[in-house]
Amino acid sequence: MKIHEFQAKQILANYGVPVPKGRVAASADEARAIAQELGGKVVVKAQIHAGGRGKGGGVKLANSPDEAARAFGQVHGMQLITHQTGPQGQKVKTVLIEEQMPIDRELYLAVLIDGAAGRPVMMASAAGGMDIEDVAAKDPGAIFRVSIDPVTGFQPHLARELCFSLGLTGELMKPASQLMAALYAAFAASDASLAEINPLVVTKDGRVLALDAKMNIDDNALFRHKDIEELRDKDEEDPSEVEAAEKGISNFIKLDGNIGCLVNGAGLAMATMDSIKFAGGEPANFLDIATANDVTKVVDALLIISRDPNVKAILVNIFGGMARVDVIAEGIIQAQRKMEKAIPVVARLAGTNVEEGERLIRESGLPVIRADDLGDAAKKAVEAARAA
Ligand code: GDP
Ligand code: MN
Repeated sequence: MKIHEFQAKQILANYGVPVPKGRVAASADEARAIAQELGGKVVVKAQIHAGGRGKGGGVKLANSPDEAARAFGQVHGMQLITHQTGPQGQKVKTVLIEEQMPIDRELYLAVLIDGAAGRPVMMASAAGGMDIEDVAAKDPGAIFRVSIDPVTGFQPHLARELCFSLGLTGELMKPASQLMAALYAAFAASDASLAEINPLVVTKDGRVLALDAKMNIDDNALFRHKDIEELRDKDEEDPSEVEAAEKGISNFIKLDGNIGCLVNGAGLAMATMDSIKFAGGEPANFLDIATANDVTKVVDALLIISRDPNVKAILVNIFGGMARVDVIAEGIIQAQRKMEKAIPVVARLAGTNVEEGERLIRESGLPVIRADDLGDAAKKAVEAARAA
């Protein structure tokens, strides 16, 4: 789950990461009042769950309370387009007003999970304020990494190593090391999958602060972070994912392709997506329907998939173990009757009650394209999508 910058900064600050003073404003008048409190010079920042706000015009420097009020008017309600929002952009509903910082250097600092190592890694770069993906592509040597043992936590020698790499020596070393330790503490305690500060700034008066903050929390750990779960902003999430979650379909992730997938089992779902790609197509979603012996869930899932305007074909790949193929078949039939537009469905069904499932589909008279195995199913789905 993603949270907003101002929320991430609040969490980081609770663990001792220095952040600029500021708070959210609900109106231009409030923006003016906050700017007054903060000494007049502020930054007016759009809060959306996407980066690149600065370049998109969502971060404005204001040098007086009146300018802050004006900037609030420009940013609040704007449709902010960044490289992460897609072409339609994201409407700005929340605006953060913060004191301006006299920036000397912009750095990059983040903690994330290193999947290959199975451990957290702290990443840092002197090229802050830029897209880290760009830095990684153009100058991979400019990114420094230290692997963290989750049992012993973030050790002081790791902080010193990163500080030397970043040139944070002398007086800066102590506050920078403390900030790194605090960042790791916040990351670990929140069950975050990412805690990123870009830019981390060194000010002209020698302070080190998080000027921006981004945190992603592991969904599987949210049950033990009720306080963080309350920060969920559904307006920032994909509507089809929100609907799926509300209907108890938790493993649904929207993607950009045109072949919808209904599969049971996460591993089979991954294999199905690979097969679609191998056959030259692109999946429109990841979906693990799990052991859903529940017709309604199958119908809900198929309808959510079918409402995606990109979807031109649906591939159903079910291996009935505990799941019953006849229940899935009933779901496919009911969903096809309810779909607003006719979308070809390719079904590869195997396992428990497969004969009964086959019979139901045959007798429904609906045009379900049958496939014998996964490779065949993927090929037929790609053909159906192309033909549509
Ligand atoms: P992002 O574009 O979504 O990553 O938003 P950021 O919060 O990182 O802000 C973008 C850029 O605005 C930063 O890299 C800074 O260059 C600039 N900026 C943000 N806050 C301040 C500030 O207090 N003072 C100055 N001078 N620049 C700032
Ligand atoms: Mn940033």
